[in-house]
Amino acid sequence: MPYRSPVADFRFLLNHVVGFGAVAATPRYADATPDTCDAILLEAAKMCDDVLAPLQRVGDRHPATLENGIVRTSPGFAGGYKAIADGGWIGMSAPADYGGMDLPITLATTVNEMIAGACLSLQLNPLMTQGQIEALQHHASDAIKDLYLPKLISGEWCGTMNLTEPQAGSDVGALRTKAESNGDGTYAITGQKIYISWADNDFTENVCHLVLARLPDGVAGTKGISLFMVPKIIPDENGVLGARNTLNVVSLEHKMGLHASPTAEMQYDGATGWLVGEAHGGMAAMFTMMNNARVGVATQGIGVAEAAYQHALSYAMERKQGGTGAIVDHADVRRMLASMKADTFAARAITLANAVALDMASATGDAGWRARAALLTPISKAFGTDVGVEVAATGIQVHGGMGFIEETGAAQYARDVRVATIYEGTNGIQAMDLVARKMADGGEAAFALLDEIEAGAEAAKAGHPELVEPLWQACETLRETTEWLVAQDVQSRFAGAVPYLRAFARVLGGHYHLLAAINGDATRKRLATFYITAILPEHTGLLAQVRSGAQDLMAITIDDLVA
Ligand SMILES: Cc1cc2nc3c(=O)[nH]c(=O)nc-3n(C[C@H](O)[C@H](O)[C@H](O)COP(=O)(O)OP(=O)(O)OC[C@H]3O[C@@H](n4cnc5c(N)ncnc54)[C@H](O)[C@@H]3O)c2cc1C
Repeated sequence: MPYRSPVADFRFLLNHVVGFGAVAATPRYADATPDTCDAILLEAAKMCDDVLAPLQRVGDRHPATLENGIVRTSPGFAGGYKAIADGGWIGMSAPADYGGMDLPITLATTVNEMIAGACLSLQLNPLMTQGQIEALQHHASDAIKDLYLPKLISGEWCGTMNLTEPQAGSDVGALRTKAESNGDGTYAITGQKIYISWADNDFTENVCHLVLARLPDGVAGTKGISLFMVPKIIPDENGVLGARNTLNVVSLEHKMGLHASPTAEMQYDGATGWLVGEAHGGMAAMFTMMNNARVGVATQGIGVAEAAYQHALSYAMERKQGGTGAIVDHADVRRMLASMKADTFAARAITLANAVALDMASATGDAGWRARAALLTPISKAFGTDVGVEVAATGIQVHGGMGFIEETGAAQYARDVRVATIYEGTNGIQAMDLVARKMADGGEAAFALLDEIEAGAEAAKAGHPELVEPLWQACETLRETTEWLVAQDVQSRFAGAVPYLRAFARVLGGHYHLLAAINGDATRKRLATFYITAILPEHTGLLAQVRSGAQDLMAITIDDLVA
């Protein structure tokens, strides 16, 4: 079944669930009227459904290749990329001064999800560029901004991020790539980077690498890291391309999925680079990019979940087995499909609410919105991608044996999306971020959100008592566990970080499903009822796991593990 962008869901979420009206009411985003939003959703959906979705299977069957040092992209991908660039979708939320549309990140998030649902491998390319645009916007000199931003926003050039090295994965501070001054304002970058997504292609004029490296006086660890712009082809100050830089794609990885996205090992041999931001301030600049990218990676999980769900639903409506009707009539198949749909909705709502908080923070400068966005980012990234992985796996199950046969395309979703829980900070690292850095405020941002959820539940009590009561109880249990958590040492927090993040997402999902039930039709209400009665109770086990602490876990010795 061909992918169809979930425009109606976005419309409903923006207008009735995630509070987008507040964004559109700010002077900064006054242009984001309902009509404009609708036009954007429909236009992007048309491109995704008609142009990008047909590339999904092609890319899997014809991966990107490396021929004599040149990356050849999958058939049709150049055209797909051109459609994205020509539509202005890369620079949707980039500054108008540089050719962007200056639209809310919330809208860019809907479009990114649709592109991911249509063709995940291709989506990763503009997603990287969007992160780079954001990092340059906030940290680069005017000269670099003037030179690079218009080309990145138009899509003539694209961007990558280069953090990972063989010995420096989650531990970015262990990187060894060196940067030495050339004495003319530029730097010589030398080192090896691995797993670099879209490190090269055959459809943009230039590829701009943002590279983390250490200056000679950089201290060990993350505090001694600086960020550099290292273009594949060196432009003059007018953007006219000149000499090839001394960097190369050494090899492409053989991966379990995402075959059309070239993942490269890169070698930099004294390549010319320009400092972005302060010397030794690379991690701060990179974090700007990573926060944006984390919401973007959440859209990858949700987009794939949507596509996998549509695929499975279509199969379940056709396939006859065990009776006269199709398998969709069996309770267990109905359970799988309803869970897929309810979880996709929950993850989408959480991620859009995250984007709304980002937009409100930049439109108002309000610290409360900033804290809300920071709190929601690890939850969106981890839960959005976990849902992607789980829904794609359930999609295979709905197909039975045909799910295991590549022809149906169900397996591709599971293979492609698997990496989304790993890159951009593994989901374990996201959970640790939530319980440590994001709760360094003693849990203030978390409690403020729980207060809102309970107040919303309270207000809906008369109309929806059967939904409000379990949600309110779940929220209270989460509150008690949060109070317990913030009083623990780091080891205990980390031991329960993953189940805590999951439980938080479960409660948030209940909150948004309740809003959907209040403001939506009977279908929305039935789905919300299923989520709150059948899925939300998962939080009880998760929170019990959190409160078991680190002691029993860490009492298991390495000898016990190998015994
Ligand atoms: C397809 C693909 C594309 C990628 N694209 C890019 C890219 O464009 N640019 C780029 O720079 N990188 C990229 N990466 C790299 C990616 O970001 C890393 O793989 C990721 O950060 C994890 O690092 P690692 O693989 O070294 O795993 P490790 O860091 O070795 O982690 C292994 C396991 O240990 C856990 N772990 C590690 N440290 C801790 C800790 N302190 N506490 C608790 N648990 C811990 C992890 O959660 C994980 O479960 C890509 C990777 C892949 C597979």
